[in-house]
Amino acid sequence: MEYLWWPASLVCAGAFYYFVLYCKPLDDYWHTIPTLDEYLSEHPNCKAENPRSAICHDCGSKRIIYRHLTAHYDQRCIHLCFSCKKTLFRTFG
Ligand SMILES: [Zn+2]
Repeated sequence: MEYLWWPASLVCAGAFYYFVLYCKPLDDYWHTIPTLDEYLSEHPNCKAENPRSAICHDCGSKRIIYRHLTAHYDQRCIHLCFSCKKTLFRTFG
């Protein structure tokens, strides 16, 4: 029975990664959000001085905040307008 610990540990680690760290439903949601380039091509007047940010197309606010999709080590980020809380675009890294 001792030989089952190693494969069982791998299965548990894989399940933890898939369901908690990667989180397929959140990843699917993240892919529905436009990238910064897509956002700026759809809203060309929302270009900001910072090339890694933009202006909110809904309220015109320049105060854009971001949050990581699952945890602070997740490189998938969602950028939101601080004023109207609208989801604007996504970035990676
Ligand atoms: Zn806004």
